[in-house]
Amino acid sequence: MTADCLFCRIVAGDVPSPRVAESERSIAIRDINPAAPVHVLVVPKRHEPDIGALARSSTEDLADVFALVGRVAEQEGIATDHRIVANTGRGAGQSVFHAHVHVLGGTELAER
Ligand code: 5GP
Ligand code: ZN
Repeated sequence: MTADCLFCRIVAGDVPSPRVAESERSIAIRDINPAAPVHVLVVPKRHEPDIGALARSSTEDLADVFALVGRVAEQEGIATDHRIVANTGRGAGQSVFHAHVHVLGGTELAER
């Protein structure tokens, strides 16, 4: 837990955010500013600054994130049509420096 990290505070329950799904190692929450009809963030409970750092730190946590993505996609009815995005670095649009992946769907997504 990193006290000044928004997603650590959401994981800890200090900042309320309803969970779409949860596993032992990850949570799934709806993005506060959705870019598609379904826009869920899958967030590992362990604090790492980005997805690459998470991969280096724990393959179990990394695998758990993607397993939960699959469950969320199924639950949201977008198992066959969705996009997974992981921004790394400010230059790529990362604004919360606790690893997470975006799960987007529920509409026709542009090619990029
Ligand atoms: P990033 O830009 O780092 O890839 O993604 C961070 C995402 O977190 C953004 O899409 C933003 O809308 C979302 N976000 C920021 N603050 C909150 C919050 O307090 N609650 C939730 N559920 N999402 C948030
Ligand atoms: Zn954190």
